[in-house]
Amino acid sequence: MTDAVCLGPEQLEELVAARVAQRTAQLQAHEQDLHNQTILFNAALNHMSQGLVMFDGQGRVVICNQRYLDMYGLTPAQVHPGSTLVEVLRHRLASGSFAGDPEAYAREILGRIPGARTSKRIVELPDGRTIAISNQPTPAAGWVATHEDITERRRAEEQIAHMARHDALTNLPNRARLREWLAHALSHAHRGRPLAMLHLDLDHFMTLNDSLGHPIGDELLRAVGDRLRECVPDNDIVARLGADEFAVVVTNIESVDDCVSVATRITDAIRVPFEIAGHTILVDLSIGISVAPDDGTEADALIKNADLALSRAKADGRGLFRFFESGMDARMQSRRKLELALKTALPREEFELFYQPIINLSTNQITSFEAVLRWHHPERGLILPGEFVFIAEEIGLISAIGEWVVNQACKEAASWPDELKVAINLSPSHLVRPNIPALISGALAAARLPPHRLEIEVTEAVLLQATEPALATLRKLREMGVRIALDDFGTGYSSLSYLRTFPFDKLKVDRSFIKDLGEDDQSFAIIEAIVMLAHALNVTTTAEGVETEAQLAHVRRLGFTEMQGFLVSRPVPGAKPMPVRRAFAAG
Ligand code: C2E
Ligand code: CA
Ligand code: CA
Repeated sequence: MTDAVCLGPEQLEELVAARVAQRTAQLQAHEQDLHNQTILFNAALNHMSQGLVMFDGQGRVVICNQRYLDMYGLTPAQVHPGSTLVEVLRHRLASGSFAGDPEAYAREILGRIPGARTSKRIVELPDGRTIAISNQPTPAAGWVATHEDITERRRAEEQIAHMARHDALTNLPNRARLREWLAHALSHAHRGRPLAMLHLDLDHFMTLNDSLGHPIGDELLRAVGDRLRECVPDNDIVARLGADEFAVVVTNIESVDDCVSVATRITDAIRVPFEIAGHTILVDLSIGISVAPDDGTEADALIKNADLALSRAKADGRGLFRFFESGMDARMQSRRKLELALKTALPREEFELFYQPIINLSTNQITSFEAVLRWHHPERGLILPGEFVFIAEEIGLISAIGEWVVNQACKEAASWPDELKVAINLSPSHLVRPNIPALISGALAAARLPPHRLEIEVTEAVLLQATEPALATLRKLREMGVRIALDDFGTGYSSLSYLRTFPFDKLKVDRSFIKDLGEDDQSFAIIEAIVMLAHALNVTTTAEGVETEAQLAHVRRLGFTEMQGFLVSRPVPGAKPMPVRRAFAAG
């Protein structure tokens, strides 16, 4: 035995008292710790962004946080340790934050808990909130449920998903959504049944946008989107593919005639004038159509072929629709080649101006020459403007080309006798640019050509919107002494009100009217009225495209001031106008 220490009763008592005091202090410290921890725990629990509730193996609440109560409109008296899941659900039913059968729901949850895996679900509450619930089993056979309100996150995600598939300006589906939609339609509901894809492009939108300003351009695009939407059934799609390009896919078609009537309906709807911010805006559009299954059974093929058909429609003169035809692809490639060549035509000096005489019908003298552009293509030879001017407009080259034309025409005309004028064609998309007056006065000064010897021909496309910038440019030119002619009258909307919108010096009646003279009494009467009105307003009238003596006789009878046409002369190269004039004078 080791040497045991014998303590007396008093010592023992002291020792015990000391131990008890020590133990008590330890316990108190421990309790303080626990208390502190509980405070921290509660603080943490009640500051969670998620609602949390812990259940034991019998489905009774062990603990629950304030957030949980707040989320579901519950009180601590309703949910406390010992409450059952069913009771909690009944309270939620009463507070409107649960829809369903509490008993059945509780049975389902309790049935799932023993499988020691966390289960997650997303529920929509009757009030529209979306809650993500995660049930995680605890070692004590119960579970901890966390409830997270993900309504905002969901909304943001939906918004992002919507934005990825829709166009922000018009809120119409975009190209990505169109492809999805088409792919779905082609592989499911409409497999093998005809379906038409229409690719639409507003004519001259860029000109409009530049002259009216982008806010009005945007407004117009929205209005166009609305009208398109009204033209097709709800279950078909209208999409915006780019700046001024839209697509319509129609499913309820049986024949080509149905496609034609859809295209016509759309064109008619868009041609009704738009009233935007005090402007009356006239819009026309070109349409390319591809039809499944003939022109493709895949979304991409249909989209591409409708696009090719659209290019054809634009090349054929705009305001038209065209169906896809095989061979368009090859034509498209040659168009691309033409674009490329056009880009280098100016620096390579491939342009030339030809001149066509204009004859005064009372004096029988040549009064002026109209300059028309010719392109000497390195491989193809001479190309007429009808084939490349619209491409130059589309690819943004028209200003540079127009500038060259203005300078060249002024320079060449300066060498002619003083009484001869020169007329220049200016594209609408060029004319709306702000620097036109400066360009023209610069060219006149450089060539020493007096302004009254220059005439600018514009088409009514410039006036369709009676836009202030275009009119201001025309007014400035006129103030400088340059004459302004309204060209191709009779090809577009042909409103006589143009003559009141701007004080034109000359009206050139399009050759399509002249061609019909003599065959058609109605066009005779129309032209007679036009010529009379023009004369009353002191506006010179020119008959374009006179090819035969018979037409010339009609033109004289109608009282035109001037004529122009192959009957007298085709446009001739820059060195030839004076020889032509001498030959004409000699009879
Ligand atoms: P436009 O202003 O109407 O020019 C007259 C066009 O009619 C010319 O065609 C001319 O050759 C043609 N023409 C004249 N008399 C007759 C005739 O008796 N019968 C027939 N069948 N045709 C006749 P061109 O040179 O091919 O020009 C076509 C259009 O291209 C012009 O029509 C004009 O709008 C545009 N254009 C021509 N030059 C320029 C230019 O320098 N700049 C711009 N922006 N456009 C131009
Ligand atoms: Ca012209
Ligand atoms: Ca013309």
